[in-house]
Amino acid sequence: MNNQHFGSCLCGSTKYTLSGDFQSFFLCHCTRCQKGTGSAHAANLFATDSSLTWLQGESNVKIYQYPNSLHRKSFCQNCGSALPTYIKNINCVVVPAGSLDSPVPISPTAKIFVSNSASWLKNTGYVPCFDGLPT
Ligand SMILES: [Zn+2]
Ligand SMILES: [Zn+2]
Repeated sequence: MNNQHFGSCLCGSTKYTLSGDFQSFFLCHCTRCQKGTGSAHAANLFATDSSLTWLQGESNVKIYQYPNSLHRKSFCQNCGSALPTYIKNINCVVVPAGSLDSPVPISPTAKIFVSNSASWLKNTGYVPCFDGLPT
């Protein structure tokens, strides 16, 4: 039986549902994901044989395909949020974990391309934590 998942972008113009199950949850540290997210890594769930349906705002969804690779990113043209994208070659929908509004059902299964990790990511366990903005 397929599970139903829901998500949206930051501005709320784009909403989707995914029918299917996630097999993998990768934290990808490759340099393309660093550029694409502006952060240390992407956090993407992978659902093969699943079905992605745009409930709202499909016309806002823009897709960037990195040449000659499987690296593909969907995002909202209005707010820039990462959104799910279908990768035909592997019959898989890739879902950015942060775009989900329904609970993320699995924990990360692997960190990948760690040889490309951002140098500043090391030793972040020692930096102070705040519940909100530092006072
Ligand atoms: Zn948006
Ligand atoms: Zn990557």
